[in-house]
Amino acid sequence: MTKKWVYLFKEGSKDMRDLLGGKGANLAEMANAGLPVPPGFTITTEACNAYFEAGEQLPEGTWEQTLRALKTVEEQTGKKFGDPKNPLLVSVRSGARVSMPGMMDTVLNVGLNPETLQGLAELMGNERFVWDAYRRLVQMFGSIVKGVDRHEFEATLDEYKKKTDGGKDTDLTTNMLRDVVRDFKALYKKELGEDFPDDPYEQMRQAIAAVFGSWFGKPAVDYRNAECISHNWGTAVNIVTMVFGNMGWDSGSGVAFTRNPSTGEKKIYGEYLLNAQGEDVVAGIRTPHTIADLKEELPENYKQFLEICDLLENHYRDVQDVEFTIEQGKLWMLQTRTGKRTAAAAVKIAVDMVREGLITKEEALMRVAPDQVNQFLHPRFDPEAKTKAKEEGNLLAEGLNASPGAATGIVIFDADTAEERGEAGEAVILVRPETNPDDVHGMVQAQGILTQHGGMTSHAAVVARGWGKPCVAGCEAIKINLDARKFDVKGREIKEGDFISVDGTTGEVFAGSIATIEASFEEEHDLVTLLGWADEVRKLGVWTNADNPEDTARARAFGAEGIGLCRTEHMFFEEERRPTVVKMIMAVTDEERQESLDKLLPFQREDFEGIFRAMDGYPVIIRLIDPPMHEFLPPREELIEEVARLRCTGENPEELVEKEEMLQVVNSMWETNPMMGVRGCRAGIMYKGLTEMQTRAIIEAACNVAQEGVDVHPEIMIPLTADVNELRIEREKLEKVAKDVMAEKGIEVDYKIGTMIEIPRAAITADKVAEYADFFSFGTNDLTQMTYGISRDDAEGKFLLDYVDRKILPHNPFEVLDRDGVGVLMKICVEKGRTTKPNLEVGICGEHGGEPSSVEFCHIIGLNYVSCSPFRVPIARLAAAQAALQHEYGRKQ
Ligand code: PEP
Ligand code: MG
Repeated sequence: MTKKWVYLFKEGSKDMRDLLGGKGANLAEMANAGLPVPPGFTITTEACNAYFEAGEQLPEGTWEQTLRALKTVEEQTGKKFGDPKNPLLVSVRSGARVSMPGMMDTVLNVGLNPETLQGLAELMGNERFVWDAYRRLVQMFGSIVKGVDRHEFEATLDEYKKKTDGGKDTDLTTNMLRDVVRDFKALYKKELGEDFPDDPYEQMRQAIAAVFGSWFGKPAVDYRNAECISHNWGTAVNIVTMVFGNMGWDSGSGVAFTRNPSTGEKKIYGEYLLNAQGEDVVAGIRTPHTIADLKEELPENYKQFLEICDLLENHYRDVQDVEFTIEQGKLWMLQTRTGKRTAAAAVKIAVDMVREGLITKEEALMRVAPDQVNQFLHPRFDPEAKTKAKEEGNLLAEGLNASPGAATGIVIFDADTAEERGEAGEAVILVRPETNPDDVHGMVQAQGILTQHGGMTSHAAVVARGWGKPCVAGCEAIKINLDARKFDVKGREIKEGDFISVDGTTGEVFAGSIATIEASFEEEHDLVTLLGWADEVRKLGVWTNADNPEDTARARAFGAEGIGLCRTEHMFFEEERRPTVVKMIMAVTDEERQESLDKLLPFQREDFEGIFRAMDGYPVIIRLIDPPMHEFLPPREELIEEVARLRCTGENPEELVEKEEMLQVVNSMWETNPMMGVRGCRAGIMYKGLTEMQTRAIIEAACNVAQEGVDVHPEIMIPLTADVNELRIEREKLEKVAKDVMAEKGIEVDYKIGTMIEIPRAAITADKVAEYADFFSFGTNDLTQMTYGISRDDAEGKFLLDYVDRKILPHNPFEVLDRDGVGVLMKICVEKGRTTKPNLEVGICGEHGGEPSSVEFCHIIGLNYVSCSPFRVPIARLAAAQAALQHEYGRKQ
């Protein structure tokens, strides 16, 4: 028995989307629900795949089954395909599992030829109409099925339109349309060397093959690549009885959403045209009317249409995007599908539908993509203004979308000027080859940041994300010339003071300014409600990475339940502290060093007190200093140049001595691979007094605020442990200081000591490491770097993105956690750590902590929390809830 390749609408349902495609499944569903759907049938996606397997041949049995289904349609309509007296016309449409708008082919009016045309004209009493339908068939068939350049047809049509007074399609007379058909057919023959097929069955057979063929057409392939849709799904073909909206003023065509797709408002939203076919509504031949006008023009149809929209929404329990046609007073539904919507609409609709009792809270949570939440938190460009900028050729380049949001301002190339002009109230975009801690004061005042080099975990990216400031990083297309204070891109020159706009959500950089739309989280009541539901179901805690009281307060407002990473070195970089830090590093004797450390202590203590107060009642993980110490000193190259210059000019002997001393220290600290050098706990171990000072500052701060009545939970985190002995040594130091401080203060605080897991060795020996750790926190930035052997500061600008483009890697592993490598290490680590301490607290504080797929993985392996930059907290809350709804928590695999 041959396989079943063809399904009548009555044999299908919405659950057969994989086999019948989205359109076919929904047409079947509507037909079976008793809605007015023109009779038809669907050839399956399996037939499409078999078609390609057989070398572009319809699989055996397809044609016979098609003819049989056509017979049934003839019975249902009372018309006959190819019958000159009462002809049946059909459309042949593509329809994949998911909608691929405009990417594949459709042929209308199949079945028309000079004979059927006459019969139809008599039946309808409208000759012009059928000639117009015929010319559309020849045009679509010629261009879509046979690949004749569609412009050739359009040029012919334009010539005739010019001969009319109005100049529009609708002004063409019957005779003119007759001539157009004659010319189209001649064009067809000239281009293809054969006559246009007037046999209706031949038309249908070729149209089916063309729709299948369009699955591998370039637009469809490109679209699938962009949307990560499988090339193996295939498209179905829907053959549907033609109905005509252009049969007079009691006819029309329209498209509508059951709710407003941009705001989510519960009101039908759409447009229609009377006396027009579906494509006319979108083609802009006449200005369409809003759907509400139909109430006046065709009240009966309007009433029925509203009822159907209601029914569809209730049936599908989601917003529908529908197409309809009214043929001489009779309403026909031609399509329904889930309506695409903006982030704002997605949230409003999800929350409204729960209130209306249409869906559950759990379903609502699955209706919003975590990344959509992003759009609520940052200013964004007005979509229309952005489209216009593109049309005007102002898109300059694309870099990494390092930190979302939109910013417009004048280009400034150095941090000091950015600070100065920013403070003076000007909107500034700081443009740098890359940023480093010396640029922070300028970054603070900038509306946005653009860097030529650097990746998703580059300094610019991490800092900007932390502040929710738009940033495009690694935009290699711009060539910055700092001396000339300009950058060149695409043959254009952008000078300091020129306006540009950066879209950190997409990575685009524009010349000129583009209007933005502001966001305010607190006022987004629906989002706040939805995230409240997310909190009810998620298993993962959502903490934040924050280094100062302002970030902490913002993160709390976004719903953070703790601080997972406070990077103390950021406190060392601040202007007034830096000279003391430099002195501490350059100290020759222990006493000298201690003197500097004593000066730093009150600053640190004050910072911690602020953070503890803002996080009253919640845990705060403070990481001891991490980066290589030379980062606090001037760059070596700069010093070498400066010393050489001072030696040559002899102009300032005192400064020369000072710079030489500094260079000596820098030289002594110089490392080929500083990221693998004296940093993390190694620095704590090698620099006497440093760990003690930081611990003292933390515990003193904790005791002080506890005395004020703050509920404080400090957790001290030791970075970059590779061997348990490092942790043991540091822990002993910490415990001693903590004990001393608490004795001095006469108060006990509950504190923990733990470590970051950033080195594969620590993950693999986690059972041993756990003996000295109360908690683990995955630093997946370093763990990814160390697992791949890829330098995170260099790779994204150099080869990593190319790797992703060439599909050598599925994603940038610094953005999306690599489950197969880094993830396996994490899993081993969690399991081994918890064999030693079953209740070991384990979290993540690398940049992955706010990325939805990585959050999902953290749920699966049973972490206690994820920690991310403040602006990602709401995203992580939703992602964690979705993970909880989809996967068992802490699954043993
Ligand atoms: C990490 O390595 O993931 C981490 C959070 O530490 P940093 O990025 O500061 O090295
Ligand atoms: Mg790290």
